[in-house]
Amino acid sequence: MLDHSLCQWLDAQADALDRGLLDGEVLLGQLAAADVLRHGVAPALGGAGGDVADGVEAIAEVASYSLTAAFVFWGQRAFIEYLLQSSNVGLRERLLEDLLQGRRAGATGLSNAMKFLSGIEQLGVVAHPHDAGWRLEGALPWVTNLRKSGFTVAAAIDLPGAQPFVAALPDDLPGLLRSDDLQLLGLQSSNTAAIRIEGARLGREWLIADDARSYLPRVRPAFLGLQCGMSIGLARRSLAEAKSLLSDARSVLEGEWQALSDELKALERALRDGLRGDHFAAGPVPLFKIRIGLARVAADAVQLELQASGGKAYLQAHGSGFARRLRESAFVPVVTPSLVQLRSQLRKHGELAA
Ligand SMILES: Cc1cc2nc3c(=O)[nH]c(=O)nc-3n(C[C@H](O)[C@H](O)[C@H](O)COP(=O)(O)OP(=O)(O)OC[C@H]3O[C@@H](n4cnc5c(N)ncnc54)[C@H](O)[C@@H]3O)c2cc1C
Repeated sequence: MLDHSLCQWLDAQADALDRGLLDGEVLLGQLAAADVLRHGVAPALGGAGGDVADGVEAIAEVASYSLTAAFVFWGQRAFIEYLLQSSNVGLRERLLEDLLQGRRAGATGLSNAMKFLSGIEQLGVVAHPHDAGWRLEGALPWVTNLRKSGFTVAAAIDLPGAQPFVAALPDDLPGLLRSDDLQLLGLQSSNTAAIRIEGARLGREWLIADDARSYLPRVRPAFLGLQCGMSIGLARRSLAEAKSLLSDARSVLEGEWQALSDELKALERALRDGLRGDHFAAGPVPLFKIRIGLARVAADAVQLELQASGGKAYLQAHGSGFARRLRESAFVPVVTPSLVQLRSQLRKHGELAA
């Protein structure tokens, strides 16, 4: 699915992307040039066809080289999905081609919204009617793909006395302020920053959905499914690295390698079938379980790579790929919905955490 030049570029730049040694500005252009953003978008809308499961596969393939690149890809592709599932045709027509070409960065500030949907926290941005639109106040504490040369960010917005809604906020909105990049453990070239909104005026032409409570559950399978691509890619890569190191002296690890590979394949299949068959629309529990399972497989695969490699993994000269994957794996449990949130939700639904 990925072309050779993108694979080569990701391979060469993965460490620099993780450590912030490469300007994140160029990343989206590389993804767009390889046309990976178009998977799962209908040809009539400028896409390559297929469905959201093809988008998951593209993100997984990128993640097997670089989780920073995969997460930026997720932010952009999730934003594209919001437009595909929006009834605001004018907004889609205005933004989609620039997003597919990587000329415009789409950021997804919907972690807060997903927590809101699960009853975990209040929406962080509040609107008050103003002229033909709204006046906005609030903050989004974490958003990725806030390219310094410009971005549009999707947020769910509270409207006291009426339904919360979902809107796209362009970076040139007066009153919308981007912080400096947050200083992170890894994924440093991901253009991750906070947003403050102070009296910004937004017109109705930026509306993605006027009823967040029915729209968010509809987009959640794509939001979460695309995110699962990150765990899949990381797990595949660590398992491939481990396999290449399983000599006779380490054959004791073979059973574990096989079990993890089988589990990964089963979870990938369940995700693909669920997305294609629209099985996740009825309720979030099966998808939550897949997300928890994939996070565990990814963490175990990175640890297996360490054991298969031995002390060499600890040497800077040999272990930089492993060290990066170890840092990357720390992101998987905390990205929303975090494992703690998911397990709390499963408990609420009376389900045992997988
Ligand atoms: C690299 C990275 C990129 C991210 N990109 C996005 C994105 O594009 N879109 C998006 O919507 N979300 C993004 N997030 C946010 C992520 O999805 C989670 O919402 C976030 O990790 C907090 O989850 P939590 O469950 O720990 O939060 P909570 O349970 O809300 O927080 C746990 C504790 O951490 C504290 N805390 C949380 N965040 C901060 C902060 N920024 N500064 C100081 N203290 C804090 C809280 O006050 C609380 O005490 C990103 C997170 C990371 C690490």
